[in-house]
Amino acid sequence: MIRTLLIANRGEIACRIARSAKALGIRTVAVHSDADAGALHVAHCDRACRIGPAPASDSYLNAGAIIEAARASGADAVHPGYGFLAENAEFADACADAGLTFVGPPAQAIRDMGSKARARALMEAAGVALVPGYHGEDQDAAALGAAAARIGYPVLIKASAGGGGRGMRIVATAGELAPAIDSARREAAAAFGDGRLLIEKYLSRPRHVEVQVFGDGHGTMLHLFERDCSIQRRHQKVLEEAPAPGLPDDLRAALGETAVRAARAVGYVGAGTVEFVLDADGFYFIEMNTRLQVEHPVTEAVTGIDLVAWQLDVATGGRLPLTQDQVRCRGHALEARLCAEDPVDFQPRTGRISYLRFPGDGARVDTGVREGDAVSVHYDAMIAKLVAHGPDRATALSRLARAVEQTRIAGLVTNQPFLARLVRHPAFARGDVHTGFIEEHADALLPAPLPVDDATFALAATAVVRRRAHAARAGAAAATDPGSPWHSCSGWRLNAPAVHRVTLAHGEEQREVVLEAAGRDLVAADLCLSGGVGPDEPVTAAGKDGTLTAPVVLSGQEVTVFLPDGPVVLAVHDPLEEAGGDEEAAGHLTAPMPGRIIEIHVAAGDDVVRGTPLLVLEAMKMEHTITAPVDGTVTCVRYAVGDLVEEGSDLLELEPARGE
Ligand code: ADP
Repeated sequence: MIRTLLIANRGEIACRIARSAKALGIRTVAVHSDADAGALHVAHCDRACRIGPAPASDSYLNAGAIIEAARASGADAVHPGYGFLAENAEFADACADAGLTFVGPPAQAIRDMGSKARARALMEAAGVALVPGYHGEDQDAAALGAAAARIGYPVLIKASAGGGGRGMRIVATAGELAPAIDSARREAAAAFGDGRLLIEKYLSRPRHVEVQVFGDGHGTMLHLFERDCSIQRRHQKVLEEAPAPGLPDDLRAALGETAVRAARAVGYVGAGTVEFVLDADGFYFIEMNTRLQVEHPVTEAVTGIDLVAWQLDVATGGRLPLTQDQVRCRGHALEARLCAEDPVDFQPRTGRISYLRFPGDGARVDTGVREGDAVSVHYDAMIAKLVAHGPDRATALSRLARAVEQTRIAGLVTNQPFLARLVRHPAFARGDVHTGFIEEHADALLPAPLPVDDATFALAATAVVRRRAHAARAGAAAATDPGSPWHSCSGWRLNAPAVHRVTLAHGEEQREVVLEAAGRDLVAADLCLSGGVGPDEPVTAAGKDGTLTAPVVLSGQEVTVFLPDGPVVLAVHDPLEEAGGDEEAAGHLTAPMPGRIIEIHVAAGDDVVRGTPLLVLEAMKMEHTITAPVDGTVTCVRYAVGDLVEEGSDLLELEPARGE
């Protein structure tokens, strides 16, 4: 029995583990970096230990600091969550050496499955079907080239030590292989300290179907059914469900049986996931994740099992409480990952969450953030998981859709509008899923932004006026001279109705909204506007076409109007802030996000053409190549390889060629 559990993670998974541990009467210890001293996971635990500065390499990946925290806090077990040290066999060994129970599989199983190449070899020996491919020791470009030719293009290069889609490259023709190998190797070496690669046949639009397995130390190995995680961008999951829609029973049974065989082949104990790609010809092993998955809640929803509670029990020698026949799959569950993310290129974004409301009921929300928290460059950009369950897929899906639509978040760019379109898409409702789904339906899922209508501008302007008045009243209440006209924002003028002018911008478009006081309401053209006084009071616009009520959130100069079709963000134009601003035309290239420069391809004096890679920035665990926006000459490179840069830093200067 575990008495005190140290949770070697952060964010939603640390909060989620704490919840199960507490329910079992286990004391919990959080670890945190300097950036996370006030984080939600710290608040969820009984005590907390600082383990280092913000960068993960100095904190959540610092095994020594975590083990020291366990010792100092009197913990007798460590749960690694997912990511960070969860699949690090040396960490599992170090925990054991320190007398701590590692809540995870035996270190040897982590080693066996941690290398995709070794896992392929072991699975081949265990008679598990693999995607045709090459996982040999010879890593020479010639050997990889010969293997790719043998397999037949298109091929997929993967980092043997890989995860999170890093080091993965699709290669369509032999001519593209060499540069893809170089960049995959570099990304793999930087991310995992191991540049070894393997090559697989790239299947066209397969499904990703994975099986949750669970073993105990007494010889029982169960499968807890499958999950379909085909809806992906950048080879990473965005929506998951259990069971996989539309699979024949015999195929489901074969998946479960194969996953159990795969797990047994490496002496697995604890929770794990065996991943397959599935096409019309069958299913093929791709990898095993030797930990809890992000998407485990959908399995919990359909089986009614608390997977973390089982992990904690099995880690201390407990027996699994069910037999395979007793594990039931009830109804259907879906999970959507809400992330700070660019809606067009799906790159992670950073920012501060200025406003956050989750749906009150109808869905499980696993999150590690609160309003006011930042999504920083140091960690994952996932904000929350929304999980809905129902007696059938259609019910679960409509519950999820409602949960997505009812989530309100402002202050940073998220994939929420994208998720909302995804869960309402008819092809998804039909269960017509495959890994190319987002690409195939991009037109519907990523529509060009619609022009913003008058009512939306009026709703935003009303909130600006009301909140300014609200703030002024609050200021007056606190001031020594409450009657001073300087505290009044009423817009009152002698012999005329009060008039407020608010200038708002949406992209290139800028509009002045004129609001006149009409009793307790405001009027803009033919719209009557009411509400919006307190931060949580929605604004209502009533006009001849009907009535529209929407929550409106102000943060700094940004106004977010939560329309039924998704949020619209407008900027309040403050004439006092009008200044400068034309720098871009001068050819400065700035960092799109904070990060580290890992490559510089040009020097001052170099002539470049539009699209030439100039430098590579590593940020949010990914490489971002900055390319020349126009033809021109590099006049200045401001940083060196290894430098850390802030968002918006001038990286280099480019003098556009004449005519550009
Ligand atoms: P990672 O560990 O980096 O996440 P995986 O091997 O799990 O990488 O693969 C991630 C995703 O890439 C899969 O879910 C699937 O969508 C896609 N994928 C993997 N292997 C193949 C393949 N051979 N053909 C087509 N798609 C694949």
